[in-house]
Amino acid sequence: METADRYDVIVIGAGPGGFAAALGAARQGRRVLLVEQNSGPGGIAVFSGCPVFSGIASLESEQYNSVTGALIEELQKLDSAKIVGSTLTSSEAAVQLAMSRLLQKHGVKLLFYATLVGAEVREQRIESVQVFCTGRHLSFSASAYIDASGDAVLAYLAGAEVICGTPEESMTRTVLFRLSNVKSFDKNSLKERFAKKEFPLPNQDCFMGTTPTDGTVLMNLTAAAGDALDPWDLTRMDLELREQVAVILPWLQREFPEFSEARLVAVAPRIGVRASRNIAGRQLIRCVDIDENRPVNDPVAVGKRSYGEHFVHTFSSPWRKTHTGPQPIPYGALLAAPLQNLAAAGRCIAVETRAVSSIRLMPCCLATGLAAGIAAAMQFPEYNILAEKLLQENCRLH
Ligand SMILES: Cc1cc2nc3c(=O)[nH]c(=O)nc-3n(C[C@H](O)[C@H](O)[C@H](O)COP(=O)(O)OP(=O)(O)OC[C@H]3O[C@@H](n4cnc5c(N)ncnc54)[C@H](O)[C@@H]3O)c2cc1C
Repeated sequence: METADRYDVIVIGAGPGGFAAALGAARQGRRVLLVEQNSGPGGIAVFSGCPVFSGIASLESEQYNSVTGALIEELQKLDSAKIVGSTLTSSEAAVQLAMSRLLQKHGVKLLFYATLVGAEVREQRIESVQVFCTGRHLSFSASAYIDASGDAVLAYLAGAEVICGTPEESMTRTVLFRLSNVKSFDKNSLKERFAKKEFPLPNQDCFMGTTPTDGTVLMNLTAAAGDALDPWDLTRMDLELREQVAVILPWLQREFPEFSEARLVAVAPRIGVRASRNIAGRQLIRCVDIDENRPVNDPVAVGKRSYGEHFVHTFSSPWRKTHTGPQPIPYGALLAAPLQNLAAAGRCIAVETRAVSSIRLMPCCLATGLAAGIAAAMQFPEYNILAEKLLQENCRLH
């Protein structure tokens, strides 16, 4: 094991949650290491092929927090930030480049192609993390750590309390694919016509697709159920989903005139997992809290009050709720019990499996990432001190 440098904050995972956490901590003047197993930042937006930030305008009331605002500006410089309604659509290449530029500009130390494989814990504190990269085992230490792995990998390896719902309570896994040569794309009309046709595969009963900024059409139509934390099942689902693409494309070409000459140009390199493992946290966001609109005393970000979509058999789960408005996310949902120096960011914060969709959209992951990053930079201060700082960063707290 090679022992490497010490940092103030180490962030595991460079999806939207980890990107915002690393940037947030670095902008507070901290030495930050960001570890990512893929070849760069972006997470699902880049490596599962979905560069779509849903609800970015409605969640933030167009008053973007400092990190979201900086990302939008960087995407605009690349001419890759299409905002329609409240959704920002970009391209994988632009998201990766924009995030990389911002992280480097703020001095975040980047380590890609590096997988977290272990954590050393003493007296309820993480002492160091072990990373595997190019055949070498490296050990890094810091005062504070952030788990932005999506799957709560660091929390799990460090022995923090985690929750994994059953596959039935979770959400469908998807391999997104891209088409060129689509003559026109009218989502509303496609949705309507899709509903009247017989889709050739189970587990999917609604049309989902969009147009990124690179001139292609992004199809969100494959769906598989299974355990994303079981290595064998993950591989099985990945294989199954890629076979589904081969069934769906000829069906689209046959059934919809605008797709008659569509060509497959890309299939996402990684399976898209919407929900898997979460920290239990000092405070768990439960369905009942959202349903009853229970007050949150220590809000650090907002999610949405609807949840229960992308069920494993049909789009809507039996427990789906479509409450409107923002859902405040408590500070306690970021803190990993019982460890003293670990926070989570993004889709693996403390939320019941059935309600993960209330906090998983990318703008929300950016917001919880920024809150976790600033909290870690300040050594997890009292709520009032953190809230003051978050307001200075233009964060929406409720
Ligand atoms: C199919 C699909 C469609 C979606 N569509 C939309 C949409 O239209 N709009 C929207 O806003 N959101 C959408 N989402 C949701 C959104 O993309 C995710 O919830 C969001 O990306 C989660 O961000 P995150 O940073 O928490 O995790 P992730 O994006 O999952 O990033 C986690 C990162 O951690 C890394 N990592 C994991 N384990 C390790 C390890 N051991 N060592 C090192 N690195 C590790 C991963 O490689 C990854 O880069 C979609 C998700 C899916 C799956």
